[in-house]
Amino acid sequence: GDSGEGSSGDTYTVATDNNFVPFEFLNEETGEMEGFDMDLIRAVADEAGFEVDIESMKFDGVVAGMQTGRYDIGIAGMTITEERAETIDFSDPYYDAGLIIAVQEGNEDIQSEDDLAGKKVGTRSGTTSETYLSENHPEAEIVTFPGIVEAYMDLQAGRVDAVMYDVPNVQYYVNNDAKGELKTVGDILQGEQYGIAFPQDSELVEPVNEALQTLIDNGTYDDIYEEWFGE
Ligand code: GLN
Repeated sequence: GDSGEGSSGDTYTVATDNNFVPFEFLNEETGEMEGFDMDLIRAVADEAGFEVDIESMKFDGVVAGMQTGRYDIGIAGMTITEERAETIDFSDPYYDAGLIIAVQEGNEDIQSEDDLAGKKVGTRSGTTSETYLSENHPEAEIVTFPGIVEAYMDLQAGRVDAVMYDVPNVQYYVNNDAKGELKTVGDILQGEQYGIAFPQDSELVEPVNEALQTLIDNGTYDDIYEEWFGE
């Protein structure tokens, strides 16, 4: 492009979710945040010529941190929604996701979202799943948790009947931590796309979009995808 290179070397603050496998989570040994989003934002920063200072928090804090302009960039498996786009800016979409239901392995009672009436359904506060449940399943008892791992643990302990959440996170949890204990049921409920977030009118949107496109074109995006989602 014809824009200047003036921002080279600047450090920007990045707000991320403290636990959303495999997009962002703490590596206890190194003390570093790891995951798909973390590799992606570090690669974007390299490409666009800036440094990042990553801070992790509850998911709803990331959204609020964009609205108040407290952080320069937010990356947290954040779904691009019309409502959020009224108060914050998004990059081009970088990941296709959706919502799905998890239940205990032996549960035959809940086979799809049609079976949620009268059931306790766990999810995470401030997320698209909470909105989806309150709009489409008012007859379910919605139980919100600040962290999604708490919702999965309550599901394993039988304190909630189901959990609704982002497909890649549910699938990762079901295939790893809760293998043989939890399963997914029904279809993907709502197609969603993740975007990198910014406070409104941020000058970083354009250079980040350009860097993202370069990483897609030169295969870096595929390498990162393969590392976290490859078989
Ligand atoms: N994609 C969901 C949302 O944007 C959840 C993201 C998350 O928990 N990190 O609401």
